[in-house]
Amino acid sequence: MEMFQVTDVYRAQESRYDTMEYRRCGNSGLRLSAVALGLWHNFGGYDVYDNARNIVRRAFDMGVTYFDLANNYGPPFGSAEETFGRILRQDLAPYRDEVVIATKAGYTMQPGPYGRCGSRKYLLASLDASLRRMGLGYVDIFYHHCMDPETPLEESMGALAQAVHSGKALYVGLSNYSPEQAEQAARLLKEMGVPCLIEQSRYHMLEREPEKELFPALRKNGVGFCAFSPLAQGILTGKYNRGIPEDSRAGGKSIYLTKDRLASFDLEQVRRLEKVAEQAGISLTELALRWALRLPEVATLIVGARTPEQLEQNVRAVQAGPLECACLEQIERILL
Ligand code: NDP
Repeated sequence: MEMFQVTDVYRAQESRYDTMEYRRCGNSGLRLSAVALGLWHNFGGYDVYDNARNIVRRAFDMGVTYFDLANNYGPPFGSAEETFGRILRQDLAPYRDEVVIATKAGYTMQPGPYGRCGSRKYLLASLDASLRRMGLGYVDIFYHHCMDPETPLEESMGALAQAVHSGKALYVGLSNYSPEQAEQAARLLKEMGVPCLIEQSRYHMLEREPEKELFPALRKNGVGFCAFSPLAQGILTGKYNRGIPEDSRAGGKSIYLTKDRLASFDLEQVRRLEKVAEQAGISLTELALRWALRLPEVATLIVGARTPEQLEQNVRAVQAGPLECACLEQIERILL
């Protein structure tokens, strides 16, 4: 495995903007790199810092501008933000105005009634804590991580609007909201003078639910979309087509892709998709990522990476642009 040298003084590649596509997010003026880097796995306090640092540096060098975090990414909770804060201080500080940093609050962060869900109390305190961990004065996007049915939507959206009015966030977003909830939330935010920038949900070849009602709802309201887990946590790289590699998520590295969860996917379907990729002369990873970018409402794909090489492959995969017709028809037949 190639190892990237971590040098002390980082200078970003001058060619970093040459090959990445930047897509407009909804009706906003903000363009996002077609590939974003998510720090859910591999950036926690128990992971190797130099590897995390290498992945972030490679990402920025290859034109990735959007870095996606949440208060509870780790483990332990909060540690991915601490890792990213350290990388910012060491490497990316001179480039702060060239990156979009997002964080979220909503899922459980700490014990007690104010450490989860959607109250104003939790969301605003959590944003302050995220800023402290990353050493930032503001984030670019602050998301409500999941809808909380027990808090009035006005209260959760009021907290997001307050984050923008207080200068601690430039934009706000929603994550894992249903189409109806997203529409209602977008309406409330608009009334509060803070347009909703983006909705973040799971979207990949094996999970197409957002196409039905979410995309039309977002389009109607001028809200952009970002797809998380576009490789289905690695399944759409084909790595599980011939067994479970030891060093993979399903090999025991993650509680979010257990062997049982993996067994709920139709791997025969994935093998058929792999054949389509082979016939087209590309990898399954490339097929999956370029497929997910074929619709204009998708502003960015938030990929994960365990190594700098994986990150490179994922960024290179989209350089040929969204997938074209011949392949799309074959894929459609397999996914139906
Ligand atoms: P992916 O679907 O991209 O899966 C990433 C994993 O797939 C990697 O950690 C690696 O796992 C494997 N992989 C990636 N690239 C390659 C490659 N080229 N070759 C071989 N294997 C590869 O995304 P994630 O599931 O990691 O999610 C991405 C981001 O989305 C998160 O970091 C987070 O920011 C966001 N997210 C948001 C959620 C929300 O509720 N809002 C929920 C989930 C994610 P391995 O260890 O097996 O090698």
